[in-house]
Amino acid sequence: MALLPALPVGLAIAEPVFSFGSTPGKLPKNVVPIHYALDLAPDLDKLTFSGSEFVDIEVMELTERLVLNAVDLTIEAAAIDGEAASQIALDAADQTVTLAFPRPVGAGRHQLRISFTGRINRFGRGLFVVDYPTAEGRKRMISSHLEPADARRIFPSWDEPVFKASVALTATVPRAFLAVSNMPVAREEPVGDGHKRVSFQPTPRMSSYLFVFAAGDLERTTADVGGVKVGVVATRGKSQQGRYALEAAGDLLRYFNDYFGIAYPLPKLDLIAVPGGFGGAMENWGGITFFESRLLFDTTTSASDARRGIFGIIAHEMAHQWFGDLVTMAWWDNIWLNEGFASWMQAKAAEALHPDWQSWLNGNGFKQAAMSEDARRTTHPIQQPIANETEAMAAFDSITYAKGQALIRMMENYLGEDTFRAGIRAYMKQHAYSSTTTADLWGALQAASGKPVSAVAAAYTEQGGVPLVIAEALCAGNAQRIALHQERFTVHDPAPQPQRWQVPVAHGAAGGTPGETVLLLDGAAEIAAGRCGDPVKLNLGDVGYYRVQYDAAMLAALTRSTDRLAPADRANLIGDTWALVEAGRAAPAAYFELTERLIGDDNRAVTEQIIRALTRIDHLQWNRPERAAFQAYGRAVLRPVFDRIGWDAAASEPPDRALLRTRLIGLLGSFGDDGIIAEAKRRFADFTKDSASLSTELRGTVTYLVGRYADRATYDTLLALGRKTTNTDERVRYYTAAASARDPALAEETLAITLTDELPTSLVGALISVVASQGEHRDLAWSFLKTNFTALAAKQGPSFQNYFPASLMTNFTDAAHAAELANFAPAQATSGGRLVAARSYERIMTDADFSAQQLPAVNEWVKQRMARR
Ligand SMILES: [Zn+2]
Repeated sequence: MALLPALPVGLAIAEPVFSFGSTPGKLPKNVVPIHYALDLAPDLDKLTFSGSEFVDIEVMELTERLVLNAVDLTIEAAAIDGEAASQIALDAADQTVTLAFPRPVGAGRHQLRISFTGRINRFGRGLFVVDYPTAEGRKRMISSHLEPADARRIFPSWDEPVFKASVALTATVPRAFLAVSNMPVAREEPVGDGHKRVSFQPTPRMSSYLFVFAAGDLERTTADVGGVKVGVVATRGKSQQGRYALEAAGDLLRYFNDYFGIAYPLPKLDLIAVPGGFGGAMENWGGITFFESRLLFDTTTSASDARRGIFGIIAHEMAHQWFGDLVTMAWWDNIWLNEGFASWMQAKAAEALHPDWQSWLNGNGFKQAAMSEDARRTTHPIQQPIANETEAMAAFDSITYAKGQALIRMMENYLGEDTFRAGIRAYMKQHAYSSTTTADLWGALQAASGKPVSAVAAAYTEQGGVPLVIAEALCAGNAQRIALHQERFTVHDPAPQPQRWQVPVAHGAAGGTPGETVLLLDGAAEIAAGRCGDPVKLNLGDVGYYRVQYDAAMLAALTRSTDRLAPADRANLIGDTWALVEAGRAAPAAYFELTERLIGDDNRAVTEQIIRALTRIDHLQWNRPERAAFQAYGRAVLRPVFDRIGWDAAASEPPDRALLRTRLIGLLGSFGDDGIIAEAKRRFADFTKDSASLSTELRGTVTYLVGRYADRATYDTLLALGRKTTNTDERVRYYTAAASARDPALAEETLAITLTDELPTSLVGALISVVASQGEHRDLAWSFLKTNFTALAAKQGPSFQNYFPASLMTNFTDAAHAAELANFAPAQATSGGRLVAARSYERIMTDADFSAQQLPAVNEWVKQRMARR
């Protein structure tokens, strides 16, 4: 048994609980905003707006000047208590405006008045415009997106989350428009020139990034849920497609009101579908915005299981209405409190309300992705210092979301569901309308449970990295004992910093249920485990955030008993075994032998796990002569699974079957299965004559495969369909399929589209990425980006400029391209961009080294295996 170096556990530097004065940030803390009375008048033709605000402020001590945030705004005038500013100085780099007055401003309440103008952009930050197709031609709406730090693009503000204040908005919009903000409309009055002034009720105290304003030719459908008016807002003609969302939001509101023990505090909650501008969704308090196809469900075009994604994203954003909006992390170093918790609650609520979806089991790839990221040299702690807005943006990554989610799940399992909820209720009650740090959360859970929560959790939040539990079976007489010790699990990190955790290890016999036996592994331990040779599963139920390495005898016993393992344990075993191959701790043969035993298992989560590794290896085989043999192997193992399922749904198949079917069709088709490709083409040809002939479930995969192998005529058909539809989901599907074309001439045409204004900017980066990934035109896409970078960056805005090149580069797997990224100036221009570029660099180098070190063994194993078939 290995002896462990004596390392401090949980680190000695556990952070303090929230205090306003010690919260990080750039703005001075001697002035705080209390209330903004904000007036905005957008001009949708000129893409500008004018605004004015009265801000009630509290000055703590006599001050010479006021410093607040503003970016891309022109300040026309500023005054305090009626006295005009003597100096107005904008600092573009710091994104601040400094106001000085003829006399110092004394302690106490004051009223600041500022008038300003700004720009409406197309790149989805601050106030942005979306032009979208309708049956009557193109229409235009505006919406906003402010997280983390873009309220300052709309109104001069104390735009750091700890400065909570109420906001009362009045907006001047065309009379035919519906205007939506955080709160209900208080009154509307017509003004000249076909416009109206819409005044909204004031919000409660909230962080500036939660403000929302959207307006356009919109319509709303509503339902009353326990006195709260829940609404879906969509562009005219589409609100009926919000029926599923409205129903899901009602179910979730009741569930969350109960879970949090505090009823949703605003009088209304709108879910707003925006047909462009940004992807995903944003949890603005009382007015959540969604990229349209994430919210709307069209029974004639959406696959029925798209409901799972819609439910999941609504659950995530609605959980934020409490965890994020009512109680907010004080600074971006604790953004995981928002995102880890909402990601966890998204799965938990789905398990409670739709248990047949098996959301934890089917979502296990999310945790696998975070553990891959977290094993690299460039990982970071969940809690990390954030110096500026570009670093805050870079923090929205898989560590924040998925490791955060997994940690909360592990802690809930460790404390027990009821105890954990009691702690959350106490935390909500204590910190409502205020701010917290992670220490406040652990404090509440510790008080509720009496367990050493902070000591266990801090090791996961304050240091990066993945624990590895190493298990060795010992046999004395006929009694089996398992010796456990821990190391740090790393990939491609020759000199990792040693680290130590207290790991809650759920363990039991194969087929056992998690939660029965949990050992808090701190260093090394031994457990009794039945008779010699009995199969023992660690991380039972896949609820923990760590990897497990079994000795050969234990792995063999588990491999023989896979039919007794629950699907979550089978998926976990495959995931860990593959990760050990990636880390150079296991030979590829060990992984393939395990998966071949499990391949007949048509559980979706298990098969998905196998498909992920096959896809990853295929990605590394790009342009290598061994690729054809590898794809033949992939087809040989997965085609029999597909043949049992078939193209068409059986009358009473389990709910995951349709999703497994489309995954298999996609993989087999990509791996060159001629029968699958021909059938996809046949079904698509029928679909173009009679759309009802192709089930909504199959449309995405069939269209993708047709796009991948498209000739000129098919490509033109796909683009024509994409240009004709007014349905955002279909639009994305057709353009993505066209962008997947393997034919380089067609890929060049797709890239050229991204320079026009044919698509909303939010789809431009996605399309270039698809050309590089699905279309496999890595060099073409990269040289296109380099050649057109200035034009693209001007159109796509700062996020694209700072992060997109690094993301596109991860399609490459060779050292030369890693070096090119390191020298690509725009990717290195901001500190947040440099963080992302360094992670991408590391990922490319990890792939390059894996290709050199492990890929030959993979190919050798495949060669031998195919010779035996
Ligand atoms: Zn979120």
